[in-house]
Amino acid sequence: MPGGVNSPVRAFRSVGAAHPVFFKSAKGSKLYDVDGNEYIDYIGSWGPMIHGHADSEIEAAAIEALKSSSSFGAPTELENLMAAEVIKLVPSIEMVRMVNSGTEAVLSAIRLARAFTSKLNPKKNKIIKFKGCYHGHVDALLVQAGSGVATLGLPDSLGVNSNVTQDTIVLNFNDFLGLKEVFKKEGELISAIIVEPIIGNGGCILPEAGFLEALRTVCDKYESLLIFDEVMTGFRVALGGAQEKYSVMPDITTLGKVIGGGFPVGAYGARREIMELVAPAGAMYQAGTLSGNPVAMAAGLTALKKLQRVGFYDDLTAKTQYLIKGLKMASGDIPVQFVEAAGMFGMFFSKTVVKNFDEAKASNVEFFKKYYMEMLQRGIYLAPSAFEAFFMSAAHSYEDLDRTIEAHKDSILFLSQILV
Ligand SMILES: *Cc1c(COP(=O)(O)O)cnc(C)c1O
Repeated sequence: MPGGVNSPVRAFRSVGAAHPVFFKSAKGSKLYDVDGNEYIDYIGSWGPMIHGHADSEIEAAAIEALKSSSSFGAPTELENLMAAEVIKLVPSIEMVRMVNSGTEAVLSAIRLARAFTSKLNPKKNKIIKFKGCYHGHVDALLVQAGSGVATLGLPDSLGVNSNVTQDTIVLNFNDFLGLKEVFKKEGELISAIIVEPIIGNGGCILPEAGFLEALRTVCDKYESLLIFDEVMTGFRVALGGAQEKYSVMPDITTLGKVIGGGFPVGAYGARREIMELVAPAGAMYQAGTLSGNPVAMAAGLTALKKLQRVGFYDDLTAKTQYLIKGLKMASGDIPVQFVEAAGMFGMFFSKTVVKNFDEAKASNVEFFKKYYMEMLQRGIYLAPSAFEAFFMSAAHSYEDLDRTIEAHKDSILFLSQILV
């Protein structure tokens, strides 16, 4: 396997480790590697495991579905129950299509946006994305681009032709002025804005007050669509995702991670007028052999039901806040910024609040790498990059959190001694 892994970040190269940890099993908040070491998990499979690992109800639902066949490639009751649940929970979604990953959801959402806006104006082809937002390995979005207010996208992966990214415009997150200028210049040509409403793939970065509203306003003014990529924030920062938390309604929403209960699932949804363009109702083609897979639907549906238990998000938020308060107090003189959004959180070794990806990159990444390895040795499994969010689960206990704070204190103390 290239780099020994099936997805790049797993190789741990971003923290300079010789090799990643190889896992054997997990239960609740704990992971066990092949050598029998135990870790407290703050990656949660990169977001899906909001109920912890090997949750007994999710496991039972998946097994029950499996007994009635693992796939039909035909309509089932389970996928209808799932669709109804998504429509009920996500404020802006009136119709939904299930797919198999976040990447698939995003590439379909982009196609759908262009399908919709091309009817208003066939020249509307451009897509705006923000630096540091990850939207899966969709060709047109594998762009970071350089500086400037509205840099024309240059691909940052081999094999992505520049003609595929020439319609991608990259802006800085929280850059109100840049947004206004680019729309003033070429608003007629812009099909959609896609954004992680809280960035989780550049570290955890919150939108400034009014930023998401500004995206909404400018899209309305220029007849462009607003796409919230809620693959990470969906069901994670609130039951109805970031759109509920911030009361800003996108036109199209993409979902993934939590929605699959640990199975490969993604989804995209929008209001009826937009979704009825999707085949076979409409002329935008998108399909999937295993889409709406019954085992994945059973697991995901159970995960979504469990989120609706009274106090779920209050408990999750209380734990995240407790942990952050403890980490803050145990940080000594080290300049560090903590960010919290219910089930996700982040930290930057920075003197100032991080508002965009450039500022995230300017944080003390070298210190993070050393810190990361110290935490790992103390049995705390954080995301192995200074540019990833961390995840809390319902299965984390306050004892886990205290152990994490203790490890943080020891790691910081150790590092400040050797680095002086
Ligand atoms: C993880 C992620 C994706 C990609 O999802 P995959 O299931 O890995 O393809 C897309 N967008 C965001 C915001 C994500 O966090």
